[in-house]
Formats: sequence, structure tokens, C-alpha cells
Amino acid sequence: MTNHKIVVAIDGHSSCGKSTIAKALAAKYGYVFIDSGAMYRAVTLYALRHNLVANGELKKDELIGSLSKIKIEFRYNPVSKKSDTYLNGENVEDEIRQLPVSQNVSPVATIAEVRTAMVRLQQEMGKNKGIVMDGRDIGTVVFPDAELKLFVTATAEIRAQRRFDELTAKGEDVSFAEILENVKERDFIDSTREASPLRKADDALVLDNSYLTREEQMTWVIEKVEEKLRFKSTEI
Ligand code: C5P
Repeated sequence: MTNHKIVVAIDGHSSCGKSTIAKALAAKYGYVFIDSGAMYRAVTLYALRHNLVANGELKKDELIGSLSKIKIEFRYNPVSKKSDTYLNGENVEDEIRQLPVSQNVSPVATIAEVRTAMVRLQQEMGKNKGIVMDGRDIGTVVFPDAELKLFVTATAEIRAQRRFDELTAKGEDVSFAEILENVKERDFIDSTREASPLRKADDALVLDNSYLTREEQMTWVIEKVEEKLRFKSTEI
């Protein structure tokens, strides 16, 4: 390992394990991990609680007007040993993962003003490097100069099954069909929106993990990080 810190940008479709990879990398290299999706989810939770969004119907101007009242932070949780998302001082980590937020987050994330506010926060968090951030526009918009960019994907059915297993393990009553529909719908909105659509950066490496175990995937990713760190240490 070298003392040179890099930025790792991980983008890709919904529920393809980006956060799992990002968390494991951050733990291995002592980097900061930021789940940028959690930030859009927290804005969506605020909107739901203030009746600014329901079933995809958005009160866009009111939400834009409320942005200055929305404070999002990540705080380390010593029990779970991971960072939790806070919305205006309240721990909302569990609530932002539930279906009402998942069903409304993509329309909220299409709003250019919301994106500008989130991107500004994200860039501030990464200004000292040593960060792994996952999302949809990290390699293209947030950190276009990131040393390592990954674009992760898997089939929609496999991603829905993973999300289904995760939610049912937590005791939530959800149907596979509903989750698959949500995964497909978010893919569609995320890739076709006007503001920073989900797309692979030209210099991103593609990782299709449909048929890879977690171990195989991590071996591949760590090899790529090591290559970048070696390269960095040869730079003047
Ligand atoms: O990553 P996750 O699935 O939790 O993100 C939730 C939603 O937030 C995505 O479906 C996408 O609409 C939006 N998002 C985004 N840009 C990011 C991260 C997430 O638009 N960088």
C-alpha cells in the first residue's frame, strides 16, 4: 500500500451491489465511503413528509424552495460500524431504504436544482481524496477526474432478487414483482433523464457481477485499485 490517495467513483444501475463494493474498499484502504444515493433518498423522504411528492407527482418548485431547509449528514455508528444518514439531525438510515422512498426517489433525482445541491456537497466531501463514492453520475459529473471509475451492472432479475432477499431478511412484507418493477422503472428514469443521466464514463471499467461471487468481484476490484495506486506512486 502507498501513501497516495485516490478517488474511486462507482456508478451503475440500481441494486447491483455498488455500495457493498464501495464499503469494502473504503474499509480496506481506510478511505471515506459515501453513498450518494442515500442523499437523494433523504431529500425524497423530506419531500414525502412534507407532501411534496406522492406516486411520482412532484411539487417541484416547492421542493426546490425547501432545499435550503434540508440538511444531510453522515455520522459514524459505532454499533453497526458504518455511517448512518441523518436528515436535519434525525437518523433516517432505515426509513430511506423502504419502498415509499424507493418508489419516489428517481423523479426527485431528475430535478436539476436538487442535483446541483447534492453534487456540491459530494465534491466538498471528496476534496482531500481518499474517498469511495457510489451513485449514478460520480465518474461523469461529481468526480470526472477520479483515478478509478467503475461501472457496475447485473441483470434486472438478479438485482431485484438481491433487493428482495435483503428486504425480506429485515422482515419487510414485499413482493418480488413489485421490486422488479421498481428496479426497471428506476433504470429507465435514471438513464433517460435530462440532468446527468446514468451513463458509463468513457474511461470507466465495466463490472458485470451477475454471475460473480462477492469474493471474485472483490478480487477483481482490488486488483484495479492496486494498479491505480502503483501508477500514482510512479507519478512525479
Ligand atoms: O443508489 P440508490 O439506488 O440508493 O439511489 C437511489 C436513487 O437516487 C437512484 O435510483 C437514482 O434515481 C438517484 N441517484 C442519482 N444520482 C446518484 C445516486 C442516486 O440520481 N449519484
